[in-house]
Amino acid sequence: MDTDRTGIHPLFALQRYACTDDPSALPNHILKEFTDTTLTLYDCFPKSKVHLLVLPRPHAGVKKEDLWSLRTLLKGDKVRAKQVLEDMGKTAAKVKDGIEKDMVETWGVKWPVWVGFHAIPSMQSVSWLIFKRVKHKKHYNSFHPEHGFFLRYDDVMDWFDATPSYYERMSNFSSSTYEDILKEDLSCFKCHKELRNMPQLKAHLEEEWQKECKSEKERIERRRKFEQQALERKRRREQAAAATQPAKGEEAAGTENAASNAPATEDARDEGEPPRKKRDTTAELEEDS
Ligand SMILES: [Zn+2]
Repeated sequence: MDTDRTGIHPLFALQRYACTDDPSALPNHILKEFTDTTLTLYDCFPKSKVHLLVLPRPHAGVKKEDLWSLRTLLKGDKVRAKQVLEDMGKTAAKVKDGIEKDMVETWGVKWPVWVGFHAIPSMQSVSWLIFKRVKHKKHYNSFHPEHGFFLRYDDVMDWFDATPSYYERMSNFSSSTYEDILKEDLSCFKCHKELRNMPQLKAHLEEEWQKECKSEKERIERRRKFEQQALERKRRREQAAAATQPAKGEEAAGTENAASNAPATEDARDEGEPPRKKRDTTAELEEDS
């Protein structure tokens, strides 16, 4: 079991952080940001390149005991549980946005950022894990988006709209069911290929990452070229329009003959043509990628 340098289990350390009255006093390498109802921390034992925890903070009507785990939260008052999760959702959406922007700036690519909960809280607090790549088998399976140990935020929020019996069943986490998931064979979360061991999985994920980087860069380049060409066409049209504007002084004389003359400019001729069908090039670019 991991412990930090003080010998305190990190799960209890997280609980302590979440309950602190003044989060601004937390060290910079731990605290990312906080609101009245949430606390966002850098994980001291990151399972991926980007791994952050969003914890709910006790506040009016929400006690520390309510936040002991996702299970205790869901077993308590349903309205309160939903409010706590919605607050966490807002914070997580902002954090996810920031991670995606950083990714694009650093690597030029967006890799999936997952937002959700661990079914059996290895940490005794409702926590969120937002991350990019995982390093160990147990942790990898615990985050695999289809195995079921990692509960996506949106799925958990859907339980509130389901029948009371479904809500009851889903929020009654059974340790034995969920712990079996961690022992499942390794498979790629993108293409489902089965991998024998962690080195193979890591090599495969690295290939997936490189593929993703390449195709994203190509997509960005296609979009850049398209936008450049559109700008160039617009510039030419504007130049042509400016060239056909009558100079001051000639305007009055020109008006006299204008009605009887046939359209003389390319633009004027174009106006007589049936409108060309506009193509949705943005959609095409997306489909191409
Ligand atoms: Zn794959």
